[in-house]
Amino acid sequence: MPANKKDIRALTKDQLRDFFVTQGDKAFRGNQVFEWLWRKSAHSFDDMTNISKMTRQMLEENFVINHIEVDTMQRSADGTIKNAVRLYDGLIVESVLIPTKTRTTACVSSQVGCSLDCTFCATARLKRMRNLNPDEIFDQVVAIDKESKLYFNRPLSNIVFMGMGEPLMNYNNVIKAIDKITLPEGLGMSPKRITLSTSGVPKMIKKMADDQVKFNLAVSLHSAIDEVRTSIMPFNETFPLTDLKASLEYWYDKTKRAITYEYIVWNGINDTQRDIDALVNFCKAVPCKVNIIEYNPIDDGEFQQASGEIINNYIYNLEKNRIVVNVRRSRGKDIDAACGQLANKT
Ligand code: SF4
Repeated sequence: MPANKKDIRALTKDQLRDFFVTQGDKAFRGNQVFEWLWRKSAHSFDDMTNISKMTRQMLEENFVINHIEVDTMQRSADGTIKNAVRLYDGLIVESVLIPTKTRTTACVSSQVGCSLDCTFCATARLKRMRNLNPDEIFDQVVAIDKESKLYFNRPLSNIVFMGMGEPLMNYNNVIKAIDKITLPEGLGMSPKRITLSTSGVPKMIKKMADDQVKFNLAVSLHSAIDEVRTSIMPFNETFPLTDLKASLEYWYDKTKRAITYEYIVWNGINDTQRDIDALVNFCKAVPCKVNIIEYNPIDDGEFQQASGEIINNYIYNLEKNRIVVNVRRSRGKDIDAACGQLANKT
């Protein structure tokens, strides 16, 4: 990108309107361009057919439109699609389309790599290289929406921020992307169909509550015992469970929205009655449900999913305490697109 050209999608609608006014044009022109950029996903100024040629040339001289490219696309036997997405600077992230009978969910990335170091996660091995820009997050959603229409004859219905990276470590850009996804001049999706999944950064959970965000919150919990959680999610030492629980109580107080806990059960790590009792106890803090997720070994087999008997014991104890629990089968395992497997292997 020439040094003097700015990515036009870094501008807010108001900034675009102001830009046109400084050019002696009408502020309304900013609305038109904004709609081309976000609602119609224009890749070039020439696509903007209701804008005069002279104005398009002026935009061309001042700005670029950075767009992601789907570098490779893999389809799993179960219909799941994994996109390896090339960013404007050549770095790659992955996003996944997960189809079920009635819905299509996009699992999107928020960072290139991850600065956290969960020991069971393939992305953790990549280390964080940079945060994604709002448009790079938005474009992953647009790409999956197109694939959903092409392969499943229906638009994208849900979005989860559960791909590469910790979304709360890139909060401002994630929020800007969600704004564009939910705005009527953007994709017009309901925030109720969006879930941000975090490993649990208490300060940022409180900030989300203060910001009155309208999307759903999920927390990758995996253990409700500090020493166990720290052994698999080392940042738990800095953000222990008491702080996490306090932030979730704060979230519920302000938003009145229940929380989803993501939970994987591994052999020899969190498979005892003590682990189950601790989870049940943790779940009593705020209204919640638990998703028990099937685990996909990432290589050497250090982490093995616990047996059905142990998982059934979790379910029995949670249900006995009136806590809603679902077991989530993993999708796209054959293409390394399942939860915790995203590691740019293609
Ligand atoms: S599980 Fe999530 S937060 Fe943890 S290392 Fe992987 S991508 Fe980062």
